[in-house]
Amino acid sequence: MKVCSPDSLCVEIDSSATGKRYNFRKGIADVPDRDAKTILREGGFLPSLSGTAHSAGGFACKCGFRPFFRTCSRCGGNAERMI
Ligand SMILES: [Zn+2]
Repeated sequence: MKVCSPDSLCVEIDSSATGKRYNFRKGIADVPDRDAKTILREGGFLPSLSGTAHSAGGFACKCGFRPFFRTCSRCGGNAERMI
């Protein structure tokens, strides 16, 4: 199942359930259910709760990047929500 990392700065999560490391470079990762539960407990959330479930990149930054979060994960700037 798809889960989002707790915040845009936390790009890697080690699962205590399976010992696997997941990369959240886009703020989202597809992980097995039991790891998803671990990540959710650590502060992650489901993309369906974020309001940006439909498209990858709900925001557009001045630097040209389309981060999943309002804070640009490339330059750290403030991204504008795309409509
Ligand atoms: Zn940027």
